[in-house]
Parts: sequence; C-alpha cells; structure tokens
Amino acid sequence: MDGLASAEIVTVYRALDDSIHHARCGQRIALQGRRGSVGPEMELDFYCFACAESVTLPLCVLARIPVANEAAAAVAA
Ligand SMILES: [Zn+2]
Repeated sequence: MDGLASAEIVTVYRALDDSIHHARCGQRIALQGRRGSVGPEMELDFYCFACAESVTLPLCVLARIPVANEAAAAVAA
C-alpha cells in the first residue's frame, strides 16, 4: 500500500455501482463540472449536498479510488 497515494483519496470512496461517495458523510457526491482540458491533468469538481462542500479530484486520482466493499455490504444488510 502506497501511503502517499492513498492519502490523496481518503476524502472519497467508490461504491460498487461506480458512483463516488464522500468519505466524511457516506453520501454520494454529484459531479458539477470539470477544470482544464481533457487529459490526465484534468480535474473534476464534485459537490456534497450533505456537507455543502466542494471536492475537486484529478482524473489520475479518480482512477485509483478503491471500491468500498464494507460500505456496500453495510447498506445491503
Ligand atoms: Zn459529505
């Protein structure tokens, strides 16, 4: 486990349905837009309605978000 890489993505996690969730509140965050040109450096702007907080994630980080099996299992139970 690369500690540095995982530190970048603790704010969010990916559910089994491929949607991005906010780690702080567990709510799904909505895609609001994007910054920069399409490519590895592009950043996506998400917004959490529960926390009223914007979350900006580079594409390269999005690709590494781990699927949260435990969270999905908790919802299904
Ligand atoms: Zn939130």
